[in-house]
Amino acid sequence: MTSPPLTTTMPSSSGAVKSSRYNRRASMHRLLKLVARGAPAALCVLAFACSRPPRLGADLLVTRATIWTGEPVRPEATALAILGDRIVAVGGDDDIERWRGATTTVIDAEGRRVLPGFNDSHVHLVDGGTQLDNVDLKDADSPEEFARRIGARAKAKPGAWILGGEWDDQRWTPPQLPTRALIDDVTNRTPVFVSRYDGHMALANAAALGRAGITARTADPPGGVIVRDDNGNPTGVVKDAAMDFVTRVIPAATPEERLRAVKRAMEHAASLGVTSVQDMNPSYDDIAVYADLANRGELTLRIYAAPIETGFYDQAKIGIHRSFGSPWLRLGAVKGYADGSLGSTTAYFFDPYLDAPNTRGLLSEEMQPIEHMRTRLMAADRAGLQLCVHAIGDAGISQILDLFEDVVGANGDRDRRLRIEHAQHIAPKDFDRFASLKVIASVQPYHAIDDGRWAERRIGSDRLKTTYAFRTLLDKGVRLAFGTDWPVAPLNPLLSLYAAATRATLDGKNPNGWVPEQKIAIADAVTAYTRAAAFAEFQERDKGTIARGKLADLVILTDDILTIPAARIKDVRVLTTVVGGKVIYQRRP
Ligand SMILES: [Zn+2]
Repeated sequence: MTSPPLTTTMPSSSGAVKSSRYNRRASMHRLLKLVARGAPAALCVLAFACSRPPRLGADLLVTRATIWTGEPVRPEATALAILGDRIVAVGGDDDIERWRGATTTVIDAEGRRVLPGFNDSHVHLVDGGTQLDNVDLKDADSPEEFARRIGARAKAKPGAWILGGEWDDQRWTPPQLPTRALIDDVTNRTPVFVSRYDGHMALANAAALGRAGITARTADPPGGVIVRDDNGNPTGVVKDAAMDFVTRVIPAATPEERLRAVKRAMEHAASLGVTSVQDMNPSYDDIAVYADLANRGELTLRIYAAPIETGFYDQAKIGIHRSFGSPWLRLGAVKGYADGSLGSTTAYFFDPYLDAPNTRGLLSEEMQPIEHMRTRLMAADRAGLQLCVHAIGDAGISQILDLFEDVVGANGDRDRRLRIEHAQHIAPKDFDRFASLKVIASVQPYHAIDDGRWAERRIGSDRLKTTYAFRTLLDKGVRLAFGTDWPVAPLNPLLSLYAAATRATLDGKNPNGWVPEQKIAIADAVTAYTRAAAFAEFQERDKGTIARGKLADLVILTDDILTIPAARIKDVRVLTTVVGGKVIYQRRP
């Protein structure tokens, strides 16, 4: 073990003193970690090494709390002590009192519920942060309101691309896809490319179609659709792979814009008690921003970045394995796509859509042909990378399970923690395969109460029985990791916990639950958002529960979500968020 110097030979400027103190502190933390893990000898070393033995005070105590630890041996506690970035003790208030020192900060939780920090297993962090500044069409309830908001943006910043949006055509009466005709007059030469909230289709205005070179003569690309009117002219809506025609002509965000987006996203996450995220499909430029922030010690959110699966070789060739990195930033996963989404009728099903009988969805571009996908997944797995694949329709999910079977067959059994992202509509025959292949279902409960408004007319009551089938998955012994797909759904974990426990759709039409037999207990939902989410990123030793030696990531809530009626969970707020032992968010009760 190499120890940093405990005294400094530098001139006694304030900077030198500070760095010497920092080193002593760092060294103390290492020793105390040993103490915490039961190495009594470390204490003597500590006393010997310091000319004036410091008092063993914690940096932060949380007292008079109702702590859900997530640990089966001690599920509840009332106090905890934090030293540096780790939890050093969990217990009753009396047990923890001995950690109080002269400089210890104490948070009196006044009996409130404390949970491990939330770990969102599926976000798009930079998109989410960018979205916080973009035009917001999520609650634009009519075509007129949709056009008004876009027009106002174009007037304020003429010529600058209008992006984001997150529109929802199912809010309109009757539901109908928007067209560029709605917005061409109010935007003129300002290019517009606004996405549906699921990210699987977007509306381009005439200016954007022009820059993208999309005309009536442009053919649909594999895995994509250019929606056309009766005369064959593009209406402005493009689906899945066809979106690339436009996205490739949008100027890339500058590093400053990316940095701003990440900072906005981190602030938003802190206010919601989200202390870790698993970031799906970040660009390498996004990761560069995370890396800069990590190097400067400015991350307040732990990030596991899973870049696009087709680029797996970038990580494989330099020997990066799953969950490589620091507690703040990790790499080593890849995220692929099997199909599209239910809302865009591009999720890939065995049977046609009821309200679009000429289609059963689209396999993604990367799955065409499927042999290429199989070759890449096998090679990525052989390189030790973790495989996460987006699959929503029952046939899309089934095909990924087939590929996973091939991967295991070819590369042999090991702890690889394969993941299917979304896993929304599972064929009854496939539940057992999730279990036998130990595939993690990385699911987003908020989508259930959102899609639940209209999914039945799209896929019918039979397929609904195994839609967002959280109860069945748990009963089969499948691990559920919760997330939001932010900005597709709100980042607020309490909304997702509410969704899993109530399945009460957003339109208020199913107060007792939509497909109620798939509701799960709130404690199971919390586990899926903490301990199981940590497992899904190979981090269960370091986070996901409140226990001695774990990273000090936790939240204090206004109300006890484990005991209040589930219908009230959506109104609960985060009072305090602690990450790595630092209070990064606090609101007044
Ligand atoms: Zn996603």
